[in-house]
Amino acid sequence: MNEVTLLPSVRKFLERDHGNFIDGHYTYDNNAEKIPVINPATGEAISYIRNASNNCVESAVSSAKRAFHGNWANTPPYQKGVILNKLADLLEQHSEELAQIETLCSGKSIHLSRAFEVGQSAVFLRYYAGWATKINGETITPSLPSFNGEKYTAFTRREPIGVVTGIVPWNFSVLIGIWKIASALVTGCTIVIKPSEFTPLTLLRVAELAIEAGVPAGALNIINGTGQAGQALIAHPGVAKVAFTGSVPTGIAVASTAMNANLTRATLELGGKNPAALLQDVDADLAVQGLITTAYVHQGQVCASPERIYVHKSRIDEILTKLSSGLSQLKIGSPLDESVQFGPLANVGHFNKIKNYFDIAHQESEIICGGQSLSRPGYFVEPTVVLARSANDTLLREEVFGPITTFLPYESDDELIALMNDSPFGLTASLWTNDMSKALRLIPRIEAGTVWVNTHTFLDPAVPFGGVKASGIGREFGSAFIDDYTELKSVMIRY
Ligand code: NAD
Repeated sequence: MNEVTLLPSVRKFLERDHGNFIDGHYTYDNNAEKIPVINPATGEAISYIRNASNNCVESAVSSAKRAFHGNWANTPPYQKGVILNKLADLLEQHSEELAQIETLCSGKSIHLSRAFEVGQSAVFLRYYAGWATKINGETITPSLPSFNGEKYTAFTRREPIGVVTGIVPWNFSVLIGIWKIASALVTGCTIVIKPSEFTPLTLLRVAELAIEAGVPAGALNIINGTGQAGQALIAHPGVAKVAFTGSVPTGIAVASTAMNANLTRATLELGGKNPAALLQDVDADLAVQGLITTAYVHQGQVCASPERIYVHKSRIDEILTKLSSGLSQLKIGSPLDESVQFGPLANVGHFNKIKNYFDIAHQESEIICGGQSLSRPGYFVEPTVVLARSANDTLLREEVFGPITTFLPYESDDELIALMNDSPFGLTASLWTNDMSKALRLIPRIEAGTVWVNTHTFLDPAVPFGGVKASGIGREFGSAFIDDYTELKSVMIRY
């Protein structure tokens, strides 16, 4: 056992009464319903939050509105970038504290919490900070007729859309929160974020650090609670845009509430049922190691991870044997133990959902390895590999969002493309091959927002990310996010 010792600051943080973070400080509503925060490695409550009331939502949106027209509007673009960079520095300085809080709430391995929730959050913040001085309109020469020598010129302004509501799932509560916070702040918007009720704590600490970094009071507010608090936020007439990440059914509810409220714009980063295709020439060792890393990271609870694996018929036995052997060597245990590679699922509801998929796999398909929950406290299951009997097996159709990959052999390229596209989702996909000519011909035929070759799952701030079909609307990262967080104002001048 190499379990890390909890920092005194983490213990103190957990003991606090966690309010909502509004207008630069905590506010408390002692009458609001308490929601326990459960450590998924033990099943025990480690802290609690309170379900934000409509009054809290009102105060948070009002505070964000004041900052939008006031102190954040008056912060020059360069200074906005400096502040986001400072927040990145502070996240790194508090890396261990933030990582421990996140691992306790989410069951994510301490390595992943350090590298992704903190390390990558800093990387993304610095990327977005670079945009602060580069968000501009353009000048245009109109072709309006001139009768008396008059002339025209025109320009566009990129104006921040207003108060943004960010709704965040439980799988990467800090990193996904940072994507929304950084996009909003760098474009001049202000934001009210609602983390998942399962992983609500770390963003509160990030909000404290944001104030220390110089984010003015009200520009970043955190509201805690269930979907009910989320609905109240989305429906608020002061909200100009909703940036949602979560499941497809919730995304549909979010978008329809937003539309009905005020034609409020919504961008949706939703679920996936992502295919990976191992072509006939695949490097088996590279692909198997790649699948272990990209499909089983964070126990498979990653929206971009591959879940449907299509392997050329001539290679499937070899791949299944190597993958089962690799997965059997993963050390399962406490996510605070630095020697552990595979921890618990994030919450009891999700644990029950995955156990149900094991039952379905036993009935409909063939389990190659895994397929059991572990008899120990907390929400642990085995990393699992399933061989489907046909393309209609449930495990090839529904998003599992867990450590189960489901395989099906294919024979021709046309069959492969038909199988890959046979899904309502279209978030990500990958091809595993050294035949780049073939890969480049297949890529345009794949219905997905991102296609990788010889890797999968991992994101970069400079590369746009988002889904097609039921996997979402809009793009994050790159320059693509700017359209979603700004309005284009056209100005025409006669002279
Ligand atoms: P979820 O949809 O259950 O919840 C997401 C968030 O929405 C939570 O904060 C939740 O409290 C809130 N919410 C729930 N009901 C709501 C409602 N009616 N109105 C407003 N807010 C509501 O998703 P989850 O279980 O937290 O996360 C897992 C899902 O998220 C998976 O489907 C996964 O694929 C998806 N996801 C997508 C991406 C992406 O970038 N595309 C990233 C991570 C996760």
